[in-house]
Amino acid sequence: MQFNRLISFSVILLGLALDPFNGYSQEQPFPWPEGKKMALSLSFDDARVTNPTLGTELLDRHGVKATFFLVPSAVRKNLESWKKATVSGHEMANHSIYHPCSGNFVWSRDKALDNYTMDQMRQELLQTNKEIQELLGVTPTVYAYPCGQTYIGRGETAQSFIPLISELFLAGRGWLDEAPVDPAYADMAHLTGMKMDNMSFEEILPLIQSASANGQWLVLAGHETNNSGNQTTYLSMLDKLAQYATDPANGIWIAPIGTIAEYVNEKRALMSANSNIPQTIVASPDGGLSLSAEKGKGSGPKIQYMPEWAAFGWFTAADQVSWEVDVPKKGIYTVYLDWSVSDEEAGHPYVFETNGKPIKGKIGKTGSWETFKRQAIGKVKLDAGLQKMIFKADPNFPIGGMLDLREITLVMER
Ligand SMILES: [Zn+2]
Repeated sequence: MQFNRLISFSVILLGLALDPFNGYSQEQPFPWPEGKKMALSLSFDDARVTNPTLGTELLDRHGVKATFFLVPSAVRKNLESWKKATVSGHEMANHSIYHPCSGNFVWSRDKALDNYTMDQMRQELLQTNKEIQELLGVTPTVYAYPCGQTYIGRGETAQSFIPLISELFLAGRGWLDEAPVDPAYADMAHLTGMKMDNMSFEEILPLIQSASANGQWLVLAGHETNNSGNQTTYLSMLDKLAQYATDPANGIWIAPIGTIAEYVNEKRALMSANSNIPQTIVASPDGGLSLSAEKGKGSGPKIQYMPEWAAFGWFTAADQVSWEVDVPKKGIYTVYLDWSVSDEEAGHPYVFETNGKPIKGKIGKTGSWETFKRQAIGKVKLDAGLQKMIFKADPNFPIGGMLDLREITLVMER
């Protein structure tokens, strides 16, 4: 942890106090990878003809991978192109077999959600997955609700099938929603999807800027990918969008829905489990010792375990982390440090103590507080048996941030 993070936290709190309508903004930014400010997913529905040709061609040129929500019958009309799109790394997802929507749409009256049963919905969803697997060799893990509608039945017997999507899929996406996904809060089975059809880049940009300011996950949804037409994401918009989203200066993580959903789930699990439980480190089958922050004991006035990073943060020279380690064999071990630090605060001196000679060094740069790096910091000769190992600041450490420490690994020389 570091001071600038604390400062931005208090600025947010101050903002809340001054502006009550600013309300439920996140207390701390969601920990996107590599210091990114937001996540962005592009998605396209119905397996439209222009998707695996004009669409993927443009996206591939920018190295951007999107999510395509498929209806198997439409995939069959264009199978070779869809196979190519799959191989190039785009996510192939489920958009049902018959695309059922409210019977209020006359075209959907013979397959109206109002007349569905839960069993029928389950069978069709599984059938869709099976057919996509047969056609393209991948099993979808993400679903998009046709017409964004999440219910079956009508009136007194109407019910939501979000629980079914939650059971069968990693994530479900809506349509024509009005706000990006709050990664710390959102229901994975009911993610918002915001329209990008028939819009210019200049119209989309404010959505991105707002999502970026709030650390959100913007999921854009479209249909055809072409120069003009109804229900069409314009190639000109997509070109500028892809260029903007892949510019490192803009801090955007752009990836398919499934990739980001998995990451979000992982981070949430870490944040909800206060997973720092000090315990004796025993060797892995290959003899290596993993001194993770999770299993270390932090002591000192300000040391803090940060579950979202599974790491300890340093503030003062009196802070330290210790591990009880059961060394299996006497020998020489190479010590690796897994840490992060901003370039401005790198360079502070540390000490790693074992029953051998201590290793002293200076914290090397990693690029940012959010970018972790693993590097050998030295070798140490250890006796076998139970012992205490301590990582701490050198006594003349100046006040400030030192590092975020995720893990120290000891690997025996052969
Ligand atoms: Zn659709």
